[in-house]
Amino acid sequence: MSTAYDAIVIGAGHNGLLCALDLARAGRRVLLLEAADHVGGAAATRSFAPGFQVSACAHLLHGLPRSLVQELNLSAHGLRFAATQISTYALDPAGGAIRIAGAQASGAGLGAADVAAYASLRARMGRYAGVFATLFSTTPPRLSLKGWRERWDMLRLALRLRLLGTAPMRELLRIAGMNAYDLLDDNLHSPLLKGALAFDATLGADYGPRAPSTVLTWLHRLAGEQQAGALGLAQPRGGMGALCEALATACGAAGVEIRLQTRVTRIAVSGDHASGVVLADGHTVTAPVVVSSAALRATLLGMLGVEHLDAGCVRRIRNFRACGLVAKLHLALRSAPVFKGVDAAALAGRLLISPSMDYLENAFNPSKYRDIPEHPALEITLPSVNDPTLAPAGQHVLSALVQFVPYDLGPDPQAAKALLLANTMATLEHYAPGISKLVVASELLTPADLERAFGLEGGHWHQGGMTFDQFFVNRPVALSHQYRSPLPGLYLCGAASHPGGGVSGWAGRNAAREVLKDGVRHGA
Ligand SMILES: Cc1cc2nc3c(=O)[nH]c(=O)nc-3n(C[C@H](O)[C@H](O)[C@H](O)COP(=O)(O)OP(=O)(O)OC[C@H]3O[C@@H](n4cnc5c(N)ncnc54)[C@H](O)[C@@H]3O)c2cc1C
Repeated sequence: MSTAYDAIVIGAGHNGLLCALDLARAGRRVLLLEAADHVGGAAATRSFAPGFQVSACAHLLHGLPRSLVQELNLSAHGLRFAATQISTYALDPAGGAIRIAGAQASGAGLGAADVAAYASLRARMGRYAGVFATLFSTTPPRLSLKGWRERWDMLRLALRLRLLGTAPMRELLRIAGMNAYDLLDDNLHSPLLKGALAFDATLGADYGPRAPSTVLTWLHRLAGEQQAGALGLAQPRGGMGALCEALATACGAAGVEIRLQTRVTRIAVSGDHASGVVLADGHTVTAPVVVSSAALRATLLGMLGVEHLDAGCVRRIRNFRACGLVAKLHLALRSAPVFKGVDAAALAGRLLISPSMDYLENAFNPSKYRDIPEHPALEITLPSVNDPTLAPAGQHVLSALVQFVPYDLGPDPQAAKALLLANTMATLEHYAPGISKLVVASELLTPADLERAFGLEGGHWHQGGMTFDQFFVNRPVALSHQYRSPLPGLYLCGAASHPGGGVSGWAGRNAAREVLKDGVRHGA
């Protein structure tokens, strides 16, 4: 086959951009196709009211490897940070907050015993997260152990675990399947501190803190934080879209051709191999390799089609659970809000409303019955405090993640959405009295809205749940876990693949490595 491209990448979210970039840096001729009129996917910046800009979905970097920023020299491509090492403030309903920065916690009546217990728990979890962090850059091995590579990968994994030492290894194996609620209750007293940590264990997940996989999701987050290193929790200047703009510039410099407003409708197949894509305008572009960062079902059942998959595989793909529970609230504010008992410096931080684990579990429970929580749990940022370019002078943007909001809002979605906005504003008003009067414009995006706007399947943070059955060798589905789809020449590189979502770029980079390993270079 002779074509103009060695590879076509579908979707210019951060994973698609990184996959395209790595392929181009390895000498491949790459075409990157994006349906939207901008790059970034769920990591984009957009205007939601005249003069007010906000990060559309992802608003804080917590797992972007610092090494990636350095290796790709993203500062030379325009990336700047408005803030790094951002602290978390767990807001107390009575006023004040606990400040959490890495292994240190202080404030709001936190006793010395809890300060020490938290530091110790965090150090232990940090060691376990180190094992997880090394998995991020690893292609999940085949369990068949047919080749030396599979055997070696499994051996390395076992070794990493063993190197923890006997007692820590036993402890990790004990807690990995546990729920965060019990683990935190076993170690700490402060309801406020436990509420904040449990929030991290459930952020972006589709379960509450009592669910078995919540220690796993907490470790996943902590592993990301280790990779971020000195960046810590970070905010790009210009919002999350600025990161993807920098990646797009790097792509351009490496020779990637990016076409925006170009939707792929079908993956072309010749014989038993992917041979290119069919675009919405009917044109076909050929290439021997197609890599999709779009959602799993959209790629395999939509663009490829069930006729190219066996029945067992189709069943697994249909059963892949992707039901997001995070909504996004954007407020344009005429001035900075005041949070009870919290000094103005904290507005540059990440503010959590999750005052206890029971509060969090109660915020989750209604979602099981497709109901709206009366008291939602919130992660609040005021990005314009660190980056005044996002709002008119003296005014501010509030960007909040609202948990837990069902995808299916029942027979009257508009009424459910109005109730959600009212409950969220009432919750905010309790902690920041008078905030409602500062609002000049607002936008609330439910998981279903996020799916429509960004193509995130089920509006899910990770393009699909991060439970044990959809993790590592089972992600996205067994037998399609090494970034290769069941169709030769078609690969997956989005958040639905290992190691899941968040703005870390691992899925994109790991997929590029597997494409290169397969070593096909047609059309040269
Ligand atoms: C509400 C919310 C808040 C979040 N907050 C954070 C956060 O603060 N920090 C964090 O790290 N993570 C956060 N996340 C998770 C993070 O945003 C995602 O996991 C990540 O951005 C996914 O990146 P991706 O490149 O894999 O996929 P996407 O960003 O979804 O990119 C896929 C791209 O493919 C394009 N596409 C799809 N179909 C086609 C087609 N047929 N043809 C052409 N193009 C197509 C889409 O338009 C899109 O641009 C959040 C997620 C949500 C939903």
